[in-house]
Amino acid sequence: MGITLPLDKICLRSGILCASCQRKVDEGVISREELSVLKALAEVEAGLKDFEGRYVRAIRYGGNLVILLEASTRIPRRLRKELASRLKDYGQILVARYGRDPEETINSLIEPSRIIGADEIYTPDGSRYKVLKIDKKDQHTVAKIEEALKEIARKIYGVEILIEYVASKERKPKISMEKRDIRSSLEKLGL
Ligand SMILES: [Zn+2]
Repeated sequence: MGITLPLDKICLRSGILCASCQRKVDEGVISREELSVLKALAEVEAGLKDFEGRYVRAIRYGGNLVILLEASTRIPRRLRKELASRLKDYGQILVARYGRDPEETINSLIEPSRIIGADEIYTPDGSRYKVLKIDKKDQHTVAKIEEALKEIARKIYGVEILIEYVASKERKPKISMEKRDIRSSLEKLGL
């Protein structure tokens, strides 16, 4: 049980790094910013007896931070709260459950909302985008972290995403898409 971290917990908690941990920081394997995140995780995990996870990565988005953890269960609310208060210098702190694809990770961040459909589009210049559809009723909450979702998709999965908010009645996936529909979709997405 606990959270698997890339540095020794005893080093993180004491703030005195052993030669092996110090080397990872010096070589840039662990950034200074990540060091703060790892220290917070090492401190917090002692109070979370039932949670088991593994640190994956922390990425900046705007003036905020998103932390990705691999976990077999949901991210406990307490963990989110504790990290937010310890890392408040980094702005808003989001904690995502790392999944095999961007959809899985994004779903963990937008709970209780979820992705209800996906499409792939190519812009006239050949760029590929994955369009993730989310119920319009959740737009007010999801829109606030859209930048974080895009950064995760780009930096962790190498995928460019666009979020489209759709009314519930549009949920049914379209079987075929005519050329003019694609054009109007591109316009709607501002491409
Ligand atoms: Zn160490």
